[in-house]
Amino acid sequence: MHELSIMQNILDMVLEYAEENNAGKVTKINLVIGELSGFVPEWMHTYFDHVSAGTIAHKAEVNIELVPALIKCGLCGKEFKLTKEKMELYCPECECARVEIISGKECSLKSIEID
Ligand SMILES: [Zn+2]
Repeated sequence: MHELSIMQNILDMVLEYAEENNAGKVTKINLVIGELSGFVPEWMHTYFDHVSAGTIAHKAEVNIELVPALIKCGLCGKEFKLTKEKMELYCPECECARVEIISGKECSLKSIEID
């Protein structure tokens, strides 16, 4: 149910923006979603269709940009990509566990296109 509440929040922001700009219709919504956010793009499309019914954002194209998960080692400073298959939180280079997740948890509204 995570996606449902987030899509409701996104819709609220979209409609607020549309209203401020006297839009007749929302044509496209660009989202940035991190691979570690746990959001499933398919569900986001489905839920958006559901929550936007009856609004000017209904049938807007929802474009989802997936951001890969990156960790950075606090010791050697190198950056590594995390995959779903390999979620080890240590540096493969120096085996230090002082790593920081620098991207992959995003879930934000990047831009909105209106008519
Ligand atoms: Zn390292």
